[in-house]
Amino acid sequence: MIIETNNREETFELGKNLGEQAKRGEVYCLSGDLGTGKTVFTQGFARGLGITEPVNSPTFTIVSEYEEGRLPLYHFDVYRIEDIEEMEEIGYEDYFYGEGVCLVEWAELIKELLPETYVLVTIEKNPEKGFDYRKITVTNSSLLD
Ligand code: ADP
Ligand code: MG
Repeated sequence: MIIETNNREETFELGKNLGEQAKRGEVYCLSGDLGTGKTVFTQGFARGLGITEPVNSPTFTIVSEYEEGRLPLYHFDVYRIEDIEEMEEIGYEDYFYGEGVCLVEWAELIKELLPETYVLVTIEKNPEKGFDYRKITVTNSSLLD
């Protein structure tokens, strides 16, 4: 599935739609350069799950947990990770194979830890199509390499 958005709200809306359909145990990997909209997508996704508290990228922790929605949401941002041992220390397997839904920003940095199946969401800019244009590709179980 390929979706083109032309502003922040449209990306939020896509995230919200997917959040409304999300199932227990799913892992969504968000891939794309800084400032493409991974966190905006996550904010929409959280809203779709019924989460009303503000969602921002976890800066000093690897994962933030939101329990108030239809399913627990575990929001990872592994951009600043230095060693995958940090993932082991926080017990990532309890999240990835747990009862909630995981969203992982910069998932390509921890590809060796990803489960066999996940949803890959890739967000790309295209300078020819304007500053706010994003091409968002959603695929199932793609391998990052
Ligand atoms: P990331 O988490 O990928 O680093 P953010 O979601 O934090 O990126 O930031 C994306 C920025 O781009 C926001 O300032 C947002 O307003 C802006 N923006 C402009 N156009 C779009 C779009 N089509 N989709 C998402 N964000 C957009
Ligand atoms: Mg972000």
